[in-house]
Amino acid sequence: MKRITLAHGAGGETMQRLIGEHILKNFGGIKNKKIGVPLDALDDSAVIDDIVFTTDGHTVKPIFFPGGDIGVLSVAGTINDIAVMGANPLALSAAFIIEEGFSIDDYARIVNSMRKTSRYADVPIITGDTKVVEKGAAEKIFITTSGVGKKHESLEHNMREVKKYRKFNEKWLLDSNLGDGDKIIVSGNIGEHGVAILSFREGYGFESKIKSDVAPLNKMIAKILKVGGIVAMKDPTRGGVANTLNEWSQKSGVGISIMEEEIPISEAVLSACEMLGIEPLNIGNEGKVVIAVVKEKAEDVLSALRKTPEGKNATIVGTVRKSIKGVVMETVVGGKRIVEQPVGDPVPRIC
Ligand code: MG
Repeated sequence: MKRITLAHGAGGETMQRLIGEHILKNFGGIKNKKIGVPLDALDDSAVIDDIVFTTDGHTVKPIFFPGGDIGVLSVAGTINDIAVMGANPLALSAAFIIEEGFSIDDYARIVNSMRKTSRYADVPIITGDTKVVEKGAAEKIFITTSGVGKKHESLEHNMREVKKYRKFNEKWLLDSNLGDGDKIIVSGNIGEHGVAILSFREGYGFESKIKSDVAPLNKMIAKILKVGGIVAMKDPTRGGVANTLNEWSQKSGVGISIMEEEIPISEAVLSACEMLGIEPLNIGNEGKVVIAVVKEKAEDVLSALRKTPEGKNATIVGTVRKSIKGVVMETVVGGKRIVEQPVGDPVPRIC
């Protein structure tokens, strides 16, 4: 008998296959003029009647971790999936599945984190649901948030800036929008969320130096839309930057070349990854965005990012190239290697 494995939920190739064979087969292919971005695009959000809509279930283990908790994560994750489309997140829903016997103090702490994150981002939680299941039927607490958003007020300006430099007719910032010559920016140090969770969970002890980057990014994103010239954005969650770049490469039909030495990463995360034998590019982030921008605007977007607290370590890591296939990294020692799409995130249950 075939069974679901952890890899089916790990954000890589195995999960993509499951979604293709079951979700898209059953729910995809709908013809409806109101659908602006369909399920089949498998982008960060869908768009229906100009409403940007997304949902995300949160099962992180442990529920409290260095730098955050399941509450912050559930609010920030959904806000970010809406914001990266070029939309302004308007409101969220939150549905809780709680295991019988769960501590009311911990529940209160999580809900308080959600309140703080939603206030900071200016995105209210306006509807929800609470279910309790018997002991053992779920682990502690799972939270599903959904969100809606509308086109950001700077999105049209952003698109006009793109059109100054190349042919472009898209309404939203989609995975399929990349074109030859575009620059790729990573908004800050990678790998922090996944490594913080793994280290804390397994007791490796790196967590004194490494904290999760979990944060809502809608305010940072609003600043760079104002600069303009952005063609695509994605939050590199499960499967990390490697997964984001491979999805872009496949959906846009372009190659992407990146330079290892430009990838922003802290010493602590780099040495933790070396010790644990994991690839930092494959690790999930929760407070970062990867941005594709026309080359003429790349420096302006970069300097706007660097003025924000979340984007202070942003760098230009690479270039979109029609002449190559897949994602290729120029290594620090001067070699080249293919950055494969990860089979799944190396760290399970990070979000
Ligand atoms: Mg996303």
